[in-house]
Amino acid sequence: MEIVPKQPTVKAPAELGDVWFDVVAAGQEPSRLRVNVVRFSPGAHTAWHKHAMGQTLHVTDGVGLVQSRGGEVVEMRPGQTIYTPPGEWHWHGAAPESFMTHLAMWEGPGEGNGPETEWGQHLTDAEYPGR
Ligand code: MN
Repeated sequence: MEIVPKQPTVKAPAELGDVWFDVVAAGQEPSRLRVNVVRFSPGAHTAWHKHAMGQTLHVTDGVGLVQSRGGEVVEMRPGQTIYTPPGEWHWHGAAPESFMTHLAMWEGPGEGNGPETEWGQHLTDAEYPGR
């Protein structure tokens, strides 16, 4: 066994708002395990994006929002688990007036299967509720 040294917390690109993440697990091949703890300040959220192998989110603190392309904005709270299937465009983040922390769990795509996450447009003011 190994006690994995704590890596520095990483600030996401500033245009997302105040978003910080800690890498919990990043498996070495043949493992493709990816687990991050992600912390969003009120109103902070990702851009539209999709994951080659899908993604599971598990909220541990605060109040969050998640939306898939063409769907309703859904509130998510501690203890809830959200799954976005492979290739489904979506965004996630904090509610306008709450911090939110979630675990993000996904897999690397493996050799020759393209990027594990593809990024698209930032949300417009009309797309993010409460702005
Ligand atoms: Mn995602």
